[in-house]
Amino acid sequence: MIEIYKDWNFPDTQYVRERTEKQQIVLHHTVSGDSVNGDMSWWLHTKERVATSYVISREGHLHKCFDDEYWAYHLGLSAPHFAKVGISYRPLDRYAIGIELDSWGALVQHTDGKFYPVTTQNGKVVPNLKCKAVENIYEYCSNQKYRGFQYFERYTTAQLATLGELLHHLMEKHHIAARYKSDIWNVTPRALAGWEGVFAHASYRQDKSDVHPQVELINLLKAL
Ligand SMILES: [Zn+2]
Repeated sequence: MIEIYKDWNFPDTQYVRERTEKQQIVLHHTVSGDSVNGDMSWWLHTKERVATSYVISREGHLHKCFDDEYWAYHLGLSAPHFAKVGISYRPLDRYAIGIELDSWGALVQHTDGKFYPVTTQNGKVVPNLKCKAVENIYEYCSNQKYRGFQYFERYTTAQLATLGELLHHLMEKHHIAARYKSDIWNVTPRALAGWEGVFAHASYRQDKSDVHPQVELINLLKAL
């Protein structure tokens, strides 16, 4: 059994209360600050059934939104995403368990030298100065940026420890085998064709940079 810090018990208007056989586990990050309450209230105020089953805070607390037997929309896929890899649309959200890591994700450096979450203005990526500067930085080499970004917030040790436990639990419960392959950091036909395994949101969509290939996360996935 896995220890749940808080069960938010989402109303069944926020997810689809239909049992489906799960084939995939998909990792996301929230692009948000320290308040899991903030993530939850945003989700609960939307009319769409967009959610993930779990959110893991920076302290490593596991928040449950709805039972992983059911499903919700979290991939944001349409026919063109599949057409790019030469396959037809399939409703993967139904078969994929979503997990969010609380994180600001991609960061850019402002002229004050500090790192801020990004926002887009007139197609240009600029620091979101309304947010607090982020201190826990993970840096990629300038010639090995991830999805165009050199800096990301670092997933915490506590967060990754909880993620490891959760992945073991879910893989056993749903009989999902996961053999790590480095293709998950790019759009991969394996993800879009619904192959069994643990994937990143970025495995399905070129415009996503969650989750980023932090070395500790890669090691965790290799050890599954
Ligand atoms: Zn995502």
